[in-house]
Amino acid sequence: MIIDFRYIEAIKQAVTAVRIINRMRISTAICRRFGFETAEEAAAASTGLKKETLSRIPVVVYKSGLHIPATDCPICIGEFKEGENVRILPRCNHGFHVKCIDKWLVLQSSCPTCRRPLSEHSANSNA
Ligand SMILES: [Zn+2]
Ligand SMILES: [Zn+2]
Repeated sequence: MIIDFRYIEAIKQAVTAVRIINRMRISTAICRRFGFETAEEAAAASTGLKKETLSRIPVVVYKSGLHIPATDCPICIGEFKEGENVRILPRCNHGFHVKCIDKWLVLQSSCPTCRRPLSEHSANSNA
């Protein structure tokens, strides 16, 4: 029996092609999920904060009499309740539930209310 090596090579190439297509499908699915049209757009918008940067934004435990400008979370439209963790953005003092704002900030590094960039770095790069 003669094994045609070109045939084996063709199969290998086909398998590689399928793997690449599958990978592209996955990234397209991710883009669709976040409402981006293309992978490039998704990459451009993916300027979210790193976990480490996120953890440096102050968190307060909400209680009545606490002097913060906001009394409810604009993301879930829920009122802050006693004992809830509220993250206060340092540049604009807007407040959000930690669980709500953290989901946003891993995707976007700006305030969802006033769109002010959170880091000095991104502010400078815009100037
Ligand atoms: Zn919330
Ligand atoms: Zn703000």
